[in-house]
Amino acid sequence: MRRLFMTGLGLSVILYLLPAVWSLTGTAEPPELLTVPQTVAGEIKNEGGGQPTITVQLEGTPVEMPLEQYVEGVTAAEIPNDFPIEAIRAQAVAARTYAVYKCRLGRSEVHPDADVCDNFSHCAAYRDPAAAAAAGTGLDRVRQAVQNTAGQILTCQGAPIAAVFHSASGPRTEAARDVWGEDVPYLQSVVSPGGSASSEYEDTVTVSADEFRKKVNEAFPSADVSGAPRTWFKASERSEAGGIITVKLGGVPVEGTAVRTLFGLHSTNFTITTTEDSISFHTVGYGHGVGLSQYGARYMAEQGASYIDILTHYYKDTVLSNV
Ligand SMILES: [Zn+2]
Repeated sequence: MRRLFMTGLGLSVILYLLPAVWSLTGTAEPPELLTVPQTVAGEIKNEGGGQPTITVQLEGTPVEMPLEQYVEGVTAAEIPNDFPIEAIRAQAVAARTYAVYKCRLGRSEVHPDADVCDNFSHCAAYRDPAAAAAAGTGLDRVRQAVQNTAGQILTCQGAPIAAVFHSASGPRTEAARDVWGEDVPYLQSVVSPGGSASSEYEDTVTVSADEFRKKVNEAFPSADVSGAPRTWFKASERSEAGGIITVKLGGVPVEGTAVRTLFGLHSTNFTITTTEDSISFHTVGYGHGVGLSQYGARYMAEQGASYIDILTHYYKDTVLSNV
């Protein structure tokens, strides 16, 4: 029997690294997480023993392509070509693993004619390698990393894992339990240096008290935000990694992920300062903070770690296997 966990639409966010020319960020449904990997519905197609294929919904149209081509497109969209090769290899394996995991879950109602889509807030970003090449974007290292790791995925207890990833963590990654409310053995909090190399590592979002009231009144009608802003936030509960799990907002417990979504914050690891007529959120880290940190992978690679070291650091108790 499989266990799927959805913690509520819009309450959590999957963010992807995409500096400079890459697009950035977005709000997503929580990933479907299997805490105990077991037999599930779909499978990667591998008819006749040839190359595995996957059907990808690209700008609304289902396209069947070799799995490895898809992995190249996702890796190209997710990590800069000039990152260290071991970090790109780690990203390639994570992208491939997540694709296989999604296939095994079965097709989403959002795209019943495709295994995955190119919407990063639902499945994963995809960048057509040919179009990127035509636009003058070098993808030689991405291509090399995908080829070097062809067919490799991470498994836990013999099943592909939900290899979620994000741009940059604070000093530690978040455990899935603290962000999505369900404990996943391989998605625990681990130390993750290197996030501060991201230009997005720290960020501040300031909203006026009026705008804040309006948004909170719409999203949480029972929250009382009638007094002075300094009285609105109480009793926040933080994760081991520093992210806000819940905070009392106008007397109502609100999840950190909900605050993040409502105000477009870079992460749930935030502190709040108020004035008489404004509220500022200062965030550390970029993304949901669960699983592989792309800047953490870069840092580890710079310290001499292999992609396998990186992957097994961020995804606990997993092993490299073949599709
Ligand atoms: Zn999708």
